[in-house]
Amino acid sequence: MTEAHPIALPKPRIVPRDAHGISRKDISPNALRVLYRLREGGFQGYLVGGAVRDLLIGGHPKDFDVATDATPEQVKSLFRNCRLIGRRFRLAHVVYGREIIEVATFRANSDDGSGDREVVDDGRLLRDNVYGTIEDDAVRRDFTANALYYTVEDFSVRDFVGGYEDVQARVLRLIGDPEARYREDPVRMLRAVRLSAKLGFTIDPAAAEPIARLAPLLESAAPARLFDECLKLFLSGHAEQSFLGMEKHGLLPVLFPETAKALVTNRSGALRKMLVQALRNTDARIAEDKAVTPAFLFAALLWPAYCRELAVLQKGGVDALAAQQRAADRVTLHQAERIALPRRFSLPMQEIWLLQPRFAQRQRKRVFRLLSHPRFRAAFDFLELRLSGTPEVADDVHFWREAQALPPEQLADRIGAAPRAPTDEDEGAPPKKRRRRRRKPSAGVRPESGAEA
Ligand code: ATP
Ligand code: MG
Repeated sequence: MTEAHPIALPKPRIVPRDAHGISRKDISPNALRVLYRLREGGFQGYLVGGAVRDLLIGGHPKDFDVATDATPEQVKSLFRNCRLIGRRFRLAHVVYGREIIEVATFRANSDDGSGDREVVDDGRLLRDNVYGTIEDDAVRRDFTANALYYTVEDFSVRDFVGGYEDVQARVLRLIGDPEARYREDPVRMLRAVRLSAKLGFTIDPAAAEPIARLAPLLESAAPARLFDECLKLFLSGHAEQSFLGMEKHGLLPVLFPETAKALVTNRSGALRKMLVQALRNTDARIAEDKAVTPAFLFAALLWPAYCRELAVLQKGGVDALAAQQRAADRVTLHQAERIALPRRFSLPMQEIWLLQPRFAQRQRKRVFRLLSHPRFRAAFDFLELRLSGTPEVADDVHFWREAQALPPEQLADRIGAAPRAPTDEDEGAPPKKRRRRRRKPSAGVRPESGAEA
């Protein structure tokens, strides 16, 4: 049993309304509705967590969480549009159309002997469902910057852990003993890197130091939770910074072992170039409000693993097409042990990989078939991405860029005039006497920087 770490609480600090920059017009009207309604019901209600932090630095929070001394049942009785979720720790969701305000009862993190809190031998927190005071609720949070409370009672910010100063100094400081807090919940290490990337805050040295050492603890984190965390790391507009932070703090080898290995062995830096480009493109698309898919992102992140698996299978004499499918399956299965990538993303991810060798094929029928493939666009974007590390695909990129731009008739003419000999697969090809299928030597993925790693 690990003992609850002692946390010396400084005197609560009240930052009055004219001393901080939070204005009610930046707060979701629905969150304000919840705060006022709780107050009318005789309860305390605070805006808390990431929203207060983001408001203090002039950001625009995407969700607003509320903490209260009302029990979930009491919250439910105050709102018609409220549903209770969660079995172990019940939360109230107050639903306004597409916006959900999450209302959580103050929670304590200390063992009160009720058995409601369980810590396993290695210090991991398994259950966490004891109600408590607002001070309890503050110290169970991860970073001081995430433990600030805003109230409509006097529009002040309440600070029990020194978070206000840390936000001003833009530093992420863990509440309590960093090592103990990471052991309780290893995902906090990823949160440190993610929030630092998102906010541009530095990680306090005491919170940064244990990360590389304790990184392997993340192996025991739930794969579904790690997937959610990956989405926030890589699909919130700061993917490049997240990736560099994970690399710097030694978290990459735990989440993406093959990728981390390949980055080290790939001396030319081509792989790094490709990955960074993928992350930059993702960030740019988000900045432009364009759609991004986890399938494409994971296709890039796991590409070195795929290339390596493929090379092994092909060396073992497996036929090109079979090797591609098998390599894709193996990588997907292997990665799923760590990060639960749902099938609706892993299937298109595989398709993006499997379509790559088809860009080398220029027979008329195949060209038109590939162009109308539902995953063509993503696969082509991926081909362009490979260009940044593999100049050999330049020809293909050029051809397919043009193929997309040309009207079909002109494209047909162009392919007809292409120097490549037509095969019997070509539509409209003149009948030949000998119908022997010619196998294209280029059916496999070209050896790539990531592959040799
Ligand atoms: P984001 O802006 O990315 O949503 P956030 O800090 O709001 O960042 P959430 O996952 O929405 O992150 O969590 C809301 C709040 O819950 C946090 O601000 C923090 O106070 C608390 N919290 C979340 N995860 C943990 C954790 N693993 N350990 C302790 N407290 C946590
Ligand atoms: Mg949040």
